[in-house]
Amino acid sequence: MGQIKLTNVKKSFGAVDVIRDINLEIEDGEFVVFVGPSGCGKSTLLRMIAGLDRPSSGELAIDGKVVNTVPAADRGLAMVFQSYALYPHMSVRQNLAFGLENTRMPKAEIAERITEAARMLEIEAYLDRRPGQLSGGQRQRVAIGRAIVRRPVAFLLDEPLSNLDAELRGSTRAELAALHARLSATMIYVTHDQVEAMTLADRIVVLRAGRIEQVGTPLELYNRPANRFVAGFIGSPH
Ligand code: ADP
Ligand code: MG
Repeated sequence: MGQIKLTNVKKSFGAVDVIRDINLEIEDGEFVVFVGPSGCGKSTLLRMIAGLDRPSSGELAIDGKVVNTVPAADRGLAMVFQSYALYPHMSVRQNLAFGLENTRMPKAEIAERITEAARMLEIEAYLDRRPGQLSGGQRQRVAIGRAIVRRPVAFLLDEPLSNLDAELRGSTRAELAALHARLSATMIYVTHDQVEAMTLADRIVVLRAGRIEQVGTPLELYNRPANRFVAGFIGSPH
């Protein structure tokens, strides 16, 4: 569970071709990082996988099933945004429960999942606070917790650390890596930060103007960048 396949995926907004023909297979449990300059289409690609945007053409499949017209809520994925997107008037606990309460999940199971996620992220002490009473790092943990409680087949993370200061970014990055090891769920992670890409990724997808320039492990891209653009982006001397 958690295999994602894109076949000839394209996306235009009006006359502007933003995603120009993406072919990519992401294996179950893989940590894949999309990198590329601002405006190259990273968020658009992630939003299409999430179901928040629809491809103009091409096919998107999850675990072998074409999902182009499947609503976001039915894809079994969870998205984490840079802006946290928490509900300010709700407690942390209510934020975590939101979305599960619309399902038929028993209350006891919801409570159990919240306890488990809170423990994993070390936010047990804040469950009854509101987001406004938390630091940026704590808020981002809640946002990740809201994804965890859904037990998605894949996590989609759009620059989740870019609002944090350098020190917190480092520690949260390490926690994300540990979380991936523990959950063994597929993670697709968007960033424009080289260090995040190099340290987190099983494979890096380098994007430029809506196309894939190169896909490979951090070491492959570092040792054998396909061109200067990739080398520059990865920080490779080659
Ligand atoms: P990235 O996340 O790599 O910075 P985006 O996917 O956000 O890039 O955007 C890629 C391009 O698509 C940008 O030029 C952006 O202006 C354009 N774009 C994104 N969303 C829309 C939209 N809803 N309508 C029109 N243009 C959009
Ligand atoms: Mg973006």
